[in-house]
Amino acid sequence: MTELLHMRDNYAKEFDAVVESIGDDYVVLNRTTFYPEGGGQSTDFGKLSDGVRTVDVTEVRKIEGTIRHKLDGSPFDVGTEVHGEIDWSRRYECMRFHTCQHVLSRYLQLNYDVVTVGNMIKPGESRADYTPLQSFDEDMKRKVEVGVNEILDQNIDIEIRFMPRGDAIAFLNQRGYQTRYLEMVPESVQDFRVMIIGDFDVASCAGTHVKNTSEIGHIQIGKSKNVGAGKRRIYFKLTD
Ligand SMILES: [Zn+2]
Repeated sequence: MTELLHMRDNYAKEFDAVVESIGDDYVVLNRTTFYPEGGGQSTDFGKLSDGVRTVDVTEVRKIEGTIRHKLDGSPFDVGTEVHGEIDWSRRYECMRFHTCQHVLSRYLQLNYDVVTVGNMIKPGESRADYTPLQSFDEDMKRKVEVGVNEILDQNIDIEIRFMPRGDAIAFLNQRGYQTRYLEMVPESVQDFRVMIIGDFDVASCAGTHVKNTSEIGHIQIGKSKNVGAGKRRIYFKLTD
């Protein structure tokens, strides 16, 4: 099992690790701070070096229970000590987008009673799907943009807490959040990671987040489209 350093520290940019196993074009490490694609957030890029050779990491994914770092070059031998470094500007942008999506989703839930049913977090422009949401006209778009930016401007601290399964579900329940999906997480998972945006939002999430909403900047909502079954996809960008 690869120790996921980014679960405890979203700001870790470099790390040392040992190669535990390899494939034709990938290595599995004993520890990593590379975020594997998942939960709607796209993969980290970066590089690994053994002190002699530096190889680009072009994709990180969890496959068959292991975290594979796909390399643009031949893999290091098993047992090699490597130094890893993530592409921080890309990751930090994902962190800003991802945290902004939490704020947008909560804002839409509170004001329009819609739930988030999908997302795609990546640099440049991200998106999320909401239901039931048939239309999203210019007036509503403007209101949401203003409302979300007012929240972001409150410079709210974002806290990450680890809780035993039962405590996490109770914590969310007490605050009125839906925990149906959490209860579906396999019983083997006992340690839950809970993200708290001040008094505004709480979610169980393994993604990467910034420490304060002031880091996000401002949201700029772009186009939206129906994607079937009462679902609407909203695209958004970030500005300073
Ligand atoms: Zn999250």
